[in-house]
Amino acid sequence: MKRITLKSLFLLVNLSLFGQEECKLHIQHLTDNFYVYTTYKKLNEVMYPSNSMYLVTDSGVVLFDSPWESSQFQPLLDSIFAKHNKKVVLAIATHYHDDRTAAFDFLRRKGVKTYSSKLTYELCEKYNENKASFYFTNDTIFELGDYKFETFYPGEGHTKDNIVIWFNDFKILYGGCLVKSTDNITLGNVTDANIDEWPLSIEKLINKYPNRNFVIPGHFGWSSNLGLEHTLQLLMQKK
Ligand SMILES: [Zn+2]
Repeated sequence: MKRITLKSLFLLVNLSLFGQEECKLHIQHLTDNFYVYTTYKKLNEVMYPSNSMYLVTDSGVVLFDSPWESSQFQPLLDSIFAKHNKKVVLAIATHYHDDRTAAFDFLRRKGVKTYSSKLTYELCEKYNENKASFYFTNDTIFELGDYKFETFYPGEGHTKDNIVIWFNDFKILYGGCLVKSTDNITLGNVTDANIDEWPLSIEKLINKYPNRNFVIPGHFGWSSNLGLEHTLQLLMQKK
């Protein structure tokens, strides 16, 4: 039988502390200069993951949504700088909840230009979330360095303001919380959702972007590109 000595016990404690610390910010390469970064927040004693993305261009780094937890704001900027030797210059929020916007005041203080839709801006104001410095009133194409991407509002779903971001050259759909992970067996937090309109919004995305190499959901795993179909299925079960 293996003896657990005081020394190995100490090591175990250390490892578990390290494990917790480590899983607060997780950066994974997606394709080309795209990365998915995941931050974690403790909800009901469980660490809950939130996916965001960033893109490295010659003109700086773009964040798609914010880290969720304040302890990860600076570490994210530091990790990006250490990895790519580039600063974050632009951030776009895909809806008003704090898993998308929590760092926006911090980012503005760091000189990052922060954006959201006008509706998201208004809802941030209403619910006292961090607002962007700038807003767009319609679907908008952004160009930075050699990269181009578009914001698209398909209608209500997880919230009334949720938008997605589409990278046509790479067929990446950044879905945010409008899209559920194929790992999910429920719709998650639906407090602010529009269950009736949500399927229509998903169908609109399926038709508008028929070829999707990558579909990134707001939470949990993103290895499958069938997030839209899966979300539709979950919504049909709910009806
Ligand atoms: Zn969310």
